[in-house]
Amino acid sequence: GKGAAMVTAVAYRLAMQHAERQRILEPLRLGREQLLEVKRRLEEAMEQGLAKETHQQASLKMLPTYVRATPDGTEHGDFLALDLGGTNFRVLLVRVRSGKKRSVEMHNKIYSIPQETMQGTGEELFDHIVQCIADFLEYMGMKGAVLPLGFTFSFPCQQRQLDQGILLRWTKGFKATGCEGEDVVTLLKDAIRRKEFDLDVVALVNDTVGTMMTCGYEDPLCEVGLIVGTGTNACYMEEVRNVELVEEDEGRMCVNMEWGAFGDGGELDELCAEFDRVVDESSNNPGKQRYEKMISGMYLGEIVRNVLLEFTAKGLLFCGKPTERLKTRGIFETKFLSQIESDRLALRQVRSILQHLGLTSSTCDDSILVKEVCGVVSRRAAQLCGAGLAAVVDKVRRNRGLEHLRITVGVDGTLYKLHPHFSGILRETVLDLAPGCEVSFLQSEDGSGKGAALITAVACRMRDAAKH
Ligand code: BGC
Ligand code: MG
Repeated sequence: GKGAAMVTAVAYRLAMQHAERQRILEPLRLGREQLLEVKRRLEEAMEQGLAKETHQQASLKMLPTYVRATPDGTEHGDFLALDLGGTNFRVLLVRVRSGKKRSVEMHNKIYSIPQETMQGTGEELFDHIVQCIADFLEYMGMKGAVLPLGFTFSFPCQQRQLDQGILLRWTKGFKATGCEGEDVVTLLKDAIRRKEFDLDVVALVNDTVGTMMTCGYEDPLCEVGLIVGTGTNACYMEEVRNVELVEEDEGRMCVNMEWGAFGDGGELDELCAEFDRVVDESSNNPGKQRYEKMISGMYLGEIVRNVLLEFTAKGLLFCGKPTERLKTRGIFETKFLSQIESDRLALRQVRSILQHLGLTSSTCDDSILVKEVCGVVSRRAAQLCGAGLAAVVDKVRRNRGLEHLRITVGVDGTLYKLHPHFSGILRETVLDLAPGCEVSFLQSEDGSGKGAALITAVACRMRDAAKH
């Protein structure tokens, strides 16, 4: 009768809604074949970045780092380290002890970098950095001490030696003027001189490299560094003969891949969803860092927000009415994604997070849908990252002519550490796509700062050895 017809109508409407939701989410779900294709293209891009002939146009810069030796436990002394380019700017004092009591002790202080400074002139930025160092030394009761310094600078730099590097471009929302194309160490030294004090800048270090070194201090199999935080990137130990920009053939050198730029040459175009294009176009650096924009913490929330906008426009969410809040860039920070996806969280709590974000009209169904969207977006990120990592470890395996490789990846970054599912999906994907490799993951504690100090310590040890 009439009741049955109504039930059928409701069921039909629900089925239609479900189909519509899935249609919107479809482009964000990746199959195994697509992931294998990502891996294959990344392998190709690595070769192009390493080869002299193709390096200039390559999307992956595969930058030489001049880091060859890992710590052997004999280095010692006090070092300063700076860590710029992640969630926080920090200054650190690192005490490295050798011998039986081999250990690393650290003191650090977090400083904020005001938005105006991040986007002002380079001189202002570096003056601010040096001001923070001065404050830190005073705070530690070490005013006037001249210590060797390692600078973790988490941006792409073209290096010709350890203590030099030209900033190729800013990423992750930094845009201080007058820095791109300049040697970052010179910019720092000039600022130190303006402040009329003295420091011995020994090493410029990417955060991936610092992380690999830190983990390598504990585990000699660690030959890959990975960051999944505000941005994403990886480094690994490559045969020097393959690093054509370096005129030597012996041994290995750590290569900073700058894999965030994968896709800038169109390699990911067929895989990108409309949401990715919108996020890219409304970013600070359109057309750049395309892979990073599908993976890292700075952008995942933006992808989610754009998907939610689409759902709302289709009348499938928030009663079809987008709030001002939902239209605001940057409201979904990584930590909200991590919270919403936590399995321990009841839907009621998801709703309260949404309310906290000003999305007050949400219903229980809305919460379920928002959670699903977050899950789809972060799963894709972890899978893409895993496909990349699979390419890297397989390259190391082939380099060494091995059928089977055991290797450790040192990892750092807020998304990797705080998200409830990211690391698990990443691991699964690597296992699936690089079956010849047995990959362990080692989470680094305070990787970038400690690593910069260790690299500085190794450089000082070798410099001292050369003197004698
Ligand atoms: C930078 C890399 C860095 C990564 C992680 C990227 O945006 O280009 O140099 O390693 O972020 O911090
Ligand atoms: Mg960092």
